[in-house]
Amino acid sequence: MHFDEVAIAFNEIEQRSGRLEMTDLLARIFEKTTPEEAERIAYILQGELRPPYEGIDLGMGEKFVLEAIRKASGYPKSRVEKEFEKEGDLGLVAEKLLAKKQQQSLFQKSLSVLSVYNSMFKISRFRGTGSQTQKINRLVELYNNATPLEARYITRFVMGQLRLGVGDPTILDALSVSHEGDKSLREPLERAYNLCSDIGYVARVFLEDPKKIQEFKIEVFKPIMPAMAERLASPKEIIAKLQKCAVEYKYDGFRIAIHKKGNRVEIYSRRLEKMTHMFPDVVKAVQKLKPKDLIFEGEALAFNQEEKRFYSFQETMRRRRKYELDAASKKYPLYVFAFDLHYLDGEDCTTSPYLERRKKLESFLPNGQIHLSKMRIVNTAEEINSLFQAALSTRLEGIIAKDLNAPYTAGKRKFAWIKLKKSYGKEMDTIDAVIVGYYRGKGARAKFGFGGLLVAAYNDETSRFETIAKVGSGFTEEEMEKFQKMLEEDKVKRPPVNLDYAMEPDFWVHPRHVVEVAYDNITRSPTHTCGMENGKGLALRFPRMIRIRDDKGPFNATTTKEVEEMHKFS
Ligand code: ATP
Repeated sequence: MHFDEVAIAFNEIEQRSGRLEMTDLLARIFEKTTPEEAERIAYILQGELRPPYEGIDLGMGEKFVLEAIRKASGYPKSRVEKEFEKEGDLGLVAEKLLAKKQQQSLFQKSLSVLSVYNSMFKISRFRGTGSQTQKINRLVELYNNATPLEARYITRFVMGQLRLGVGDPTILDALSVSHEGDKSLREPLERAYNLCSDIGYVARVFLEDPKKIQEFKIEVFKPIMPAMAERLASPKEIIAKLQKCAVEYKYDGFRIAIHKKGNRVEIYSRRLEKMTHMFPDVVKAVQKLKPKDLIFEGEALAFNQEEKRFYSFQETMRRRRKYELDAASKKYPLYVFAFDLHYLDGEDCTTSPYLERRKKLESFLPNGQIHLSKMRIVNTAEEINSLFQAALSTRLEGIIAKDLNAPYTAGKRKFAWIKLKKSYGKEMDTIDAVIVGYYRGKGARAKFGFGGLLVAAYNDETSRFETIAKVGSGFTEEEMEKFQKMLEEDKVKRPPVNLDYAMEPDFWVHPRHVVEVAYDNITRSPTHTCGMENGKGLALRFPRMIRIRDDKGPFNATTTKEVEEMHKFS
């Protein structure tokens, strides 16, 4: 397939905002592609070259893309920069300046989807001295053969901002529509995606043989999207919902998924990033476990023998960062509290009921560095309450109740797990929100160039971000400096395409970072767009910054649906 066809479809998608139209346009593309092309297009739509957990980055900043446009277009640097100043989008700059040049040039060979993808992949591979020049030259080569419209999307892809507003659910819908004419295969496609976190792989397998998606099985070293917990306000409500259930301590550590095949072990974070290097002591302990092939999940945290207490996630990470890793693992040994099993020697356990998974997990876990999470089966609200109090007295944050019969709900927030934390109903509650903009500092804050954040919730039904608060307090001076530096890099000239907003910050940023924000209650306000009804959205009252949540990506932020639920509590 010619890349031109894809660029034309992207341009049409960009003009539409409705999910249905976008889905149809994409479906028409998937109807015509080979499985390999579908795989590449799915990655490109995600703004990636490979599944995000592989961490492949093109490594080209704004400066180098400007240089490539200058070289390919023949315009002086000052002109390219002036256009950028005016347009605020390098994609449009490339399109405009290359169009002018092409009127004069004679030969050009047309680009295919695979050749564009391969060139981008090569760009990502150039490393070390001289690599910037190699990257620029490869991009110039692409520009020399690209139509202006292709140049727009190639540039935006390289800059990490395709600006189409197409989320994963739309890609999955489009795959189903391309084959069935409707969304009837969306559910198995979504399940497959949640089990491997690799949209390109799902697209390829689906185009090769849709039946394989129905029978999709998890694989070691392909991380699974984590299941998430719903929340309820009291033990009574939990019993009313689940009746007899399991109750586990909720450990405030670092969530990890551990994959083992023979002697090879990989550890993935909640965001599916490979973190194996951070946990050398855990790797050694896992290598000694009996099962050959294994995927299980747990919470890692440090235990201080002298003080007989656990360190929280933040403390653990701070301490581990301060020391060399080897020294840290001796001084603050990490313990893993395993709480779920996904795969055991050839068997996909995600479809088995909780109790069966738990029994299997218990069958091979020794009580060394890897423990089992504390679990008890209960029948009454009183029993839940006494476990909850016991958890709090050991300085844990609460409990998680689990439905005994539920399968593992990969990538979903379901009542299979219900969390009860100290803060619900009393003291302080928090949400995890995505930063979409920030404010210039005024008065005493002017010197930091930072005065607060505009943050948003994620609407997982529409795949859009919706603003919920302007956060101006809770920052130390050190944090203000840190935020300014961090966000300066993510600054974009236009509001993110997948954002609904009513108020404007001084600077927009690419939605990437998640922060935990505390608040007093949730009210309706015309200045925010979260769960908008009659021109008023949900807004946090007295929002305060608590911490950056490095372990969460923008699509793991608190959802609009959750905020609506919390609004009922507040
Ligand atoms: P929170 O901010 O309350 O930790 P979260 O949004 O990070 O919540 P949830 O989706 O609500 O995560 O899921 C509960 C989290 O609790 C899991 O992500 C996991 O890291 C943690 N956890 C701690 N102990 C357990 C346990 N025994 N079983 C399941 N999850 C646990």
